[in-house]
Amino acid sequence: MGKMTGKWCTEVYKDTALSFKIKKKLYGKRSKYQMVEIYETEKHGNLMALDGCYMVSTAEEFVYHDMLAHVPLFSHPNPENILVIGGGDGGTVREVMKHKGVKSIDFVEIDEDVYTTSKKYFPALVKGLEQDKRVHFLFGDGIKFVKDSKDKYDVILVDGTDPSDIAGGLFSSDFFKDVHNALKEDGIMVMQSEDPWFDSDIIKNVQDRLKKLFLQVHLYLAFIPIYPSGMWSFSYASKKHDPRVIKNKKSKIAKFKYYSEEVHKAAFALPQFVKDAIK
Ligand code: SAM
Repeated sequence: MGKMTGKWCTEVYKDTALSFKIKKKLYGKRSKYQMVEIYETEKHGNLMALDGCYMVSTAEEFVYHDMLAHVPLFSHPNPENILVIGGGDGGTVREVMKHKGVKSIDFVEIDEDVYTTSKKYFPALVKGLEQDKRVHFLFGDGIKFVKDSKDKYDVILVDGTDPSDIAGGLFSSDFFKDVHNALKEDGIMVMQSEDPWFDSDIIKNVQDRLKKLFLQVHLYLAFIPIYPSGMWSFSYASKKHDPRVIKNKKSKIAKFKYYSEEVHKAAFALPQFVKDAIK
């Protein structure tokens, strides 16, 4: 076990802790909704934490944003109207913008402070968002926002924090019913759904609730070094499209850093312990 000399930041999660060596703490302020902290790390660039939970780092953000955005956007044959709930750091919207067939991106983040802080410390995550006329900044509660939409979106991406406080409702049956209502007849929803090692109960609840509403419900995985256990899940739900068939042939996008057709397909191959946990 190495010695922890110098300065470190640590996220404590249940009976685990994850630390990163830092040069300094760059920002720390409570917003209307949560504690927003930014650290300059030794080797991972800047690191954001909300209420003490790591959200995004300069070095690793591409994994989560690639997999949250591109799996649904390549599973849908012609994604045009997109809703992003949460995602205040901007990375998910940045990835959606790469799909030139997309006509509109409603960006509904509850805490504007997260976005303004990300603008200052994560410029690569917000690059182009304010210049792209397709992006509509609609700061507010995504749980309330989605209630007013019917048969409107091709894809809804839920890039929320962990299921507590402001994000708790993003994991509820009522919210999923509203999402189902807001999606078009062949719409797709994907949400980050926590980790299979420490939170398989959360994942099972999400999957069971989605199965009551959607024809196609699947789980897929990606590997994210800054999140608890490093193994992360995304829950996919669609009224029609099976995500293991890549239908979007329109989006001609240059190479990604994590996503590819083979990674897309492989992500749905679950280890047996995960299959058993959500059965
Ligand atoms: N990548 C991160 C993860 O996997 O945990 C999430 C990134 S993003 C920073 C999470 C965002 O969800 C936060 O900015 C938070 O303010 C936002 N959020 C939480 N609950 C929300 C809600 N009900 N409506 C809209 N945004 C919400």
